[in-house]
Amino acid sequence: MTTLKPTAACLLAFLFTLICPSALRAQTADLVLRGGKIATCDQRDRIAQAVAIRAGRIVAVGSDAEIELLIGSMTHIIDLKGKLVVPGFIEGHGHFISLGETKLGLDLSQAKSYAEVVKLVAEAAKKARPGQWIIGRGWHQEKWTDPPAADGSRYPTHDALSRATPENPVLLTHGSGHMSLANARAMAEAGISRDTKPPAGGEILRDAGGNPTGVFRETAQSRLQGAHARSRERLSPEEIDAEFQAAVEAAGRECLSKGITSFQDAGSSPGTVARFRKLADQGKLPVRLYVMLRGSAGQLEDQLASLRTIDYQDRLTVRAIKCMADGALGSHGAWLLEPYNDLPESTGLVVQPIDDIRRTAVLALAHDYQICTHAIGDRANREVLNLYESVLRGGAGNSESSTKDRRWRIEHAQHLSPDDIPRFKELGVIASMQGSHATSDGPFVVARLGEKRAREGAYAWRSLLDAGARVINGTDAPVEDLSPLLCYYSSVTRRMADGRAFFPQQRMTRREALRSYTIDAAYGAFEEGQKGSIEKGKLADLVVLSHDILSVKDEELPDAKVVLTILNGEIVYGGGRP
Ligand SMILES: [Zn+2]
Repeated sequence: MTTLKPTAACLLAFLFTLICPSALRAQTADLVLRGGKIATCDQRDRIAQAVAIRAGRIVAVGSDAEIELLIGSMTHIIDLKGKLVVPGFIEGHGHFISLGETKLGLDLSQAKSYAEVVKLVAEAAKKARPGQWIIGRGWHQEKWTDPPAADGSRYPTHDALSRATPENPVLLTHGSGHMSLANARAMAEAGISRDTKPPAGGEILRDAGGNPTGVFRETAQSRLQGAHARSRERLSPEEIDAEFQAAVEAAGRECLSKGITSFQDAGSSPGTVARFRKLADQGKLPVRLYVMLRGSAGQLEDQLASLRTIDYQDRLTVRAIKCMADGALGSHGAWLLEPYNDLPESTGLVVQPIDDIRRTAVLALAHDYQICTHAIGDRANREVLNLYESVLRGGAGNSESSTKDRRWRIEHAQHLSPDDIPRFKELGVIASMQGSHATSDGPFVVARLGEKRAREGAYAWRSLLDAGARVINGTDAPVEDLSPLLCYYSSVTRRMADGRAFFPQQRMTRREALRSYTIDAAYGAFEEGQKGSIEKGKLADLVVLSHDILSVKDEELPDAKVVLTILNGEIVYGGGRP
């Protein structure tokens, strides 16, 4: 029998810790979570009991007994009492500043009728100065119990709004972001009359007499947004900075309260990125941001090299570009292969010509940027896949493997021709989808597409996963509620508000849904080496949940709450013990 003798080096190290307490502390954890169920989301989806964190990183994952060894006198211990811990959620596609502005501004998403929208705006106008713009967001005619107009037409007209708010320009963005309603004063300030022609990729709705009804679709919104932006030029730079920071703070609070520690921002201008950088320098970015740049190839070309940054101040990455092929299904803007069932004269709208996106894609390839293209209709998805294929395979020296590691994405990938589903895997294109869209759009999808198209290709994440594609998840906040737990519920049940399930054969498993919000979402941003799972060496971004969302019954999932959010090893939401 041999006895274990400490080697000389070991003995020296031991003596060193005796005489130098800081060396001992360097080996113990700052924070330990124990006595729970740790869903690691590692390659084998292992479950552990405890996790130890030091200096913002995960230093050990294992049983309570194993982690015990890392507890020192300074270690903060959280007893999980059996609760589930998951990696910090990663929002795969949201709009960070719009989210903040929505939280600070006029939220119309709960309005049950057009009359209620008009009332909310009139109340806001009472508190505003004459001439001050009133900006609202989130109205959706499909949520209204009465048709918006007496003649039963699909969209509201501005008259009631204009009567209620004659002194203030009003601009109300649709819940989808793809259409806006303006009052008479806003249209006047934007110089819009019955002779105004819509820009390419946009539409101005008109009444029987040819007058604008106040509804502007897609690019036609830009004149109104421009008029609003001009009104803001009167603000001082300090006022603009303060507004921006307030929006960042509001969005950050919303994220951390819902367990989001990383946010993939689906489209910000270089100017907005500069503001993010400034806040990162001041330590004022509340979550980790992965930003897709928004702008034409011409606008971005000279800036791509200098804007590219990875993990700036541990908070900001810019290495992706957002493009926009079509509109949204709700507003009949999705570009379809065959006409709409409920609008047979239309196949939707092209928002950005495919050749424009091609120019951006070529630039992206040259500057090692990812391309993330919004495509909702089956035609838009096919065109984008074709374009990706030709640019990726056409480039000199592009082997199959380098094609795959470009990780180009299609944002939404909502309605697919069954023929195109296998191409995601073949081309290494990531499907960046939103579980909540399926269940909130569900009630009108069949009306728009007909039963066959809806069944075969609408929100078809099960088919994509079975075909080997990588699917990442998110909410498109503020289009949908930011909550990853509600989106997870939609992803695994496809249950709509009325209790019916929307083509339930396309459900994800619990495991897939969790991975779509963690490790797979990290992959979508080239960050799977840093985050997305609870493993030694990774960033200590974790969430403690009230319910075990991996095993409770479907009916209990909507009750699940975030108990604690930990970002970089710090408790940033829910300070009390679970
Ligand atoms: Zn979006």
